[in-house]
Amino acid sequence: MALIVQKYGGTSVANTERIKNVAARVAGYRSRGDQIVVVVSAMSGVTDNLIKLAKDIMPLPSEREMDMLLATGEQTTISLTAMALHALGIDAVSLTGAQAGIVTDGVHTKAKILNITPKQAHALLKAGKVVIVAGFQGQTPEGQITTLGRGGSDLTAIALAAALRADLCQIYTDVDGVYTADPRIVPCARKLNEIAYDEMLELAGAGAKVMQLRSVEFAKKFGVVFEVRSSMNDNPGTIVKEEVRSMEDVVVRGVSLDKNQAKVTLVAVPDRPGVAARIFNALSDAAINVDMIVQNVSHGVGLPATDLSFTVDKPDLLKATKVIESLKAEIAYREVISDENIGKLSIVGVGMRSHSGVAAKMFETLAKENVNIGMISTSEIKISVIIDLAKGEQATRAVHAAFLESKPA
Ligand code: ADP
Ligand code: ASP
Ligand code: MG
Repeated sequence: MALIVQKYGGTSVANTERIKNVAARVAGYRSRGDQIVVVVSAMSGVTDNLIKLAKDIMPLPSEREMDMLLATGEQTTISLTAMALHALGIDAVSLTGAQAGIVTDGVHTKAKILNITPKQAHALLKAGKVVIVAGFQGQTPEGQITTLGRGGSDLTAIALAAALRADLCQIYTDVDGVYTADPRIVPCARKLNEIAYDEMLELAGAGAKVMQLRSVEFAKKFGVVFEVRSSMNDNPGTIVKEEVRSMEDVVVRGVSLDKNQAKVTLVAVPDRPGVAARIFNALSDAAINVDMIVQNVSHGVGLPATDLSFTVDKPDLLKATKVIESLKAEIAYREVISDENIGKLSIVGVGMRSHSGVAAKMFETLAKENVNIGMISTSEIKISVIIDLAKGEQATRAVHAAFLESKPA
């Protein structure tokens, strides 16, 4: 008998037919005698619609009220999933994030998990029930409802698997596993049998939304091995785990395109100590994550100045420009420009540590496609470039072909 945590994403619970399919799969495991905790997302499109409703009312709604609103999406799915199991004669109970003991900090819409005490879940499992938990949500120690950032049901599942010391953690989605690139962009992408935490982390950070970044960080930290697999078939998926030596044989494991980034440029920022610290502290105080940063000499007249560009997630753009505008009197930069038409293209692989010439090959491939590189950032196992969004998919396919498709002899 195993304790299994299974997470089903939005498309896997998109309608009542799919929810019945989920129940049938859970029933299959249950009949083997396994104990099952099911984490579900909101039905696909529901979270986006709730966000749209809020933005129709005001562009920057209260983040506390956003969480109150968004948490309803997952609550619909847990109860329907419990009912679908009841219909099959299986005893199941749904729990909100708070009832599942998920305690977070108070950073609304991006809360971090502080601890999990799944007392109710333990008791229900012991009593032979299937436990259905609402993904993506938690509660502060003071009892405020919070959410864990987009895609946060992955984090709920992995954190629960760690807290419950589950034997298995399965992330069910609408693809067979983690591919060498998003199969929607690169149709010939290949499914990977396994991938190292660090590679999955970099791919998730580079926009491969198949796993939420923070969930992979959590899995690595607590050593939760998990499998990404399809809820539509029984194909084996991709195992995400600690790196093993043979993984270094592959230079590039995957390619990713992030279309969800935006660039902010401050033109002619006075070139003096403390200015960058002031800007990035103000962004950090507003809980805005900054990804790439580039500083260049500004070609204006007058005092020494630099142009400072950085990228943020698109949904944070409005908030970020507001923060920057609030600093205008203090910092006296000339103007702020924002650009949403960018894409971040990345290649990832632990093998990059021991191979040279990878960046040169990537840049050469982009040059052949006539794609201009706006910003570059690297880590030991990743190279990312900011390019024009309109050329993003074409560039992704070209880079995938250069590194991951075997050439005819
Ligand atoms: P869920 O709703 O199940 O959480 P998501 O939509 O968040 O599913 O993630 C699954 C999607 O991730 C796939 O449909 C696919 O388009 C996308 N994706 C991006 N990069 C990859 C990749 N490297 N491998 C597999 N899927 C990827
Ligand atoms: N429903 C949330 C979202 O759409 C969380 C998730 O699906 O994991 O981001
Ligand atoms: Mg997801």
